[in-house]
Amino acid sequence: MPQAPIQSNPSTPVWKVALPLPLPRLFDYLPPEGEAATEGDVGLRVRVPFGSRELVGVVAAVAAADGDSPDLKAALDRLDPEPLFQGELLESLRWLARYTHAPLGEVLATALPAPLRRGEPLPDTHAWAWQLTEAGLTARERLRAGKPRRLADRLAAGPCDEDLLDESEDDWRSAARALAKRGLAERAAIPAVPRAPAPQPGPALNAEQQAAVDAVTAASGGFAALLLDGVTGSGKTEVYLHAIADCLARGRQALVLVPEIGLTPQTLARFRARLGVPVHALHSGLGDGERARTWMAFARGEARVVVGTRSAVFLPLPEAGLIVIDEEHDGSFKQLDGIRYHARDFALVRGKALGVPVLLGSATPSLESLRNAQAGRFQHLRLRERAGAAQPPRVRVIDVRKRPLDAGLSPELFDAIGHALDADGQVLVFKNRRGYAPVLICHDCGWSAQCQRCDAPMTVHGGGRRLQCHHCGARRPAPDACPDCGGLALQAQGAGTERIEEALTARFPDVPVLRIDRGTTQRRDALEQHLARFGSERGILVGTQMLAKGHDLPQLTLVAVVGIDEGLFSADFRAPEKLAQLLIQVAGRAGRAQRPGEVLLQTHHPAHPLLATLLAGGYGAFADNELAQREEAGFPPFAHLAMLRAEARHTDACEAFLRAARERLRDADPSLELHGPLPAPMPRRAGYQRMQLLLSSPERRTLHASLDSALPAIYALPEARKVRWSLDVDPLDL
Ligand code: ADP
Ligand code: ZN
Ligand code: ZN
Repeated sequence: MPQAPIQSNPSTPVWKVALPLPLPRLFDYLPPEGEAATEGDVGLRVRVPFGSRELVGVVAAVAAADGDSPDLKAALDRLDPEPLFQGELLESLRWLARYTHAPLGEVLATALPAPLRRGEPLPDTHAWAWQLTEAGLTARERLRAGKPRRLADRLAAGPCDEDLLDESEDDWRSAARALAKRGLAERAAIPAVPRAPAPQPGPALNAEQQAAVDAVTAASGGFAALLLDGVTGSGKTEVYLHAIADCLARGRQALVLVPEIGLTPQTLARFRARLGVPVHALHSGLGDGERARTWMAFARGEARVVVGTRSAVFLPLPEAGLIVIDEEHDGSFKQLDGIRYHARDFALVRGKALGVPVLLGSATPSLESLRNAQAGRFQHLRLRERAGAAQPPRVRVIDVRKRPLDAGLSPELFDAIGHALDADGQVLVFKNRRGYAPVLICHDCGWSAQCQRCDAPMTVHGGGRRLQCHHCGARRPAPDACPDCGGLALQAQGAGTERIEEALTARFPDVPVLRIDRGTTQRRDALEQHLARFGSERGILVGTQMLAKGHDLPQLTLVAVVGIDEGLFSADFRAPEKLAQLLIQVAGRAGRAQRPGEVLLQTHHPAHPLLATLLAGGYGAFADNELAQREEAGFPPFAHLAMLRAEARHTDACEAFLRAARERLRDADPSLELHGPLPAPMPRRAGYQRMQLLLSSPERRTLHASLDSALPAIYALPEARKVRWSLDVDPLDL
């Protein structure tokens, strides 16, 4: 009897595949011809036909096909012998898909390095080494003197990898071949890991540091969240290093997340020098191939420690022991497009699932984390003093009302800079990027250079010759004459870092002035090279956020901060928190070594309560105050937010979509607070109109339940097809 075609049997299990498509569902496929779908296939990468394309997806479940799918297609390829996503990682990513209300296929694709996402074969994480065979071990002593003998003697101490042999032995390959031919030596695959130097000892811990390390060690039996709240320079990194060493001694893997600007070669070198095991780095500056190899080295349990930025939170950790998040308050942990995850929050979820402690460190903890500590969900560890001999900096406010300014700098500031230089110190002039950027205006008629595609002015670059939009990247040359009145009185308005640099160079012609911003340092290591050249001589650094953290500058004795006033009066409820964190972090750069430091804050609002609280009581007092205000106003962390955003060529389409979505959400839960549709903070970007609808609820569960019930209807709205829309749970930028 001929066999019935497999398609017609409704109970035959099929692959339910998660595809990287903006559709909230799985897709049924038969396994390739001649194969059966089994439970063990879950987590497998597969290649499937989709319309006229081929896509790489992941088997999310194995079950009977959905009702009536008569002509089920067969998958083209099973891409891996074993499922790539396994155990905890797969379950945590399923959680992330539910939490962000994003399609599982897009979440899984986000978690993979690009080559694996594209369906490329798993990279080799092995290197090759040479070792003696049993026969070689016994025969070695009888070998005649010569190159093979020399190599055999060397290998008698243990396997040696080829890179090392290349470095240290001439012509070893022919010797190795000679030994191999006689069955005395063989080539073997070993884990390819960056070589580690012998560990260097660090300073003896002080009592507070030791207490923090002990708390982490004590928590190592399971999940715990520990907030290491330590002033800048208090030795938090030393605590991480001890906790990691302890984790390694237990034979476990450690994941360290750092902000974008925190992952400097200096940081890596410190970890490598101290831990005595290979330390992997993971950041956007690495090639795809290297990222994929690191991912697999962790999946295979070969790698032990990684220091990485946001996306390192997706590494498989089959032997996890500890997760560290440095500068946990940093905004770069939140992804602002695609899958809008927060690496800190996801790390906590993973820590819980893995049953390992999560150590969050900061001198300026996020209000969310401080609230968690107050509520007893996080253990609160404190480092109150700077480590070693370093003294806390003195902070002074300079009132610039009615003072003559040169490039935005007051006479008092120039004087203070002069004094610091006279004492052979280094000076950092820090310009808050959220302040005014230099804009080209006409002094005769008031015309200003606007981006043609965004509601934003263009910024002046290249000493006034170029205009650039920081929002869409558009560039054009600056006009010679005003396009409106034809006048020649065009000037760069606003003290950008270039103008500050000019003014300082003019005032202090005999000291080096080094400007550090995105324009002068496109690449990560360029910043290091600049600073290395700067050395320890007296001089002035001018820069933005890039300099708030990172490279140690022991000779820095004066930090001058300008351009903070806009942050004092922003509409964003998070602006005060961001500004306070920035001020404390920048101030923390001063006086990190033996020399005392001074910090000058230049402002038109010397009596502003934020500055007053911060100066009198420090970040802790500011945070208490701010938390009380957030509670009163019903803002996070006392409420939970989600933002529905839409963009289209015409405002009408955005508005129609968000109104319809609002109806669906209102139906789902009348208690949900809905604000909007309103224009986005930048209502037009790159030629698109942008609007948003804010959802808020005191209960996280209510927010998610409403989204769960309303989203299928929102996806199906006819208005949804006329816009690009996205949902952002726990939005950071309102
Ligand atoms: P943080 O991470 O809190 O900014 P670090 O761990 O980088 O602080 O420490 C700041 C400086 O103090 C570093 O140069 C570090 O070597 C030094 N340091 C840390 N702990 C100690 C200690 N217990 N004794 C002496 N010096 C220390
Ligand atoms: Zn004009
Ligand atoms: Zn633009």
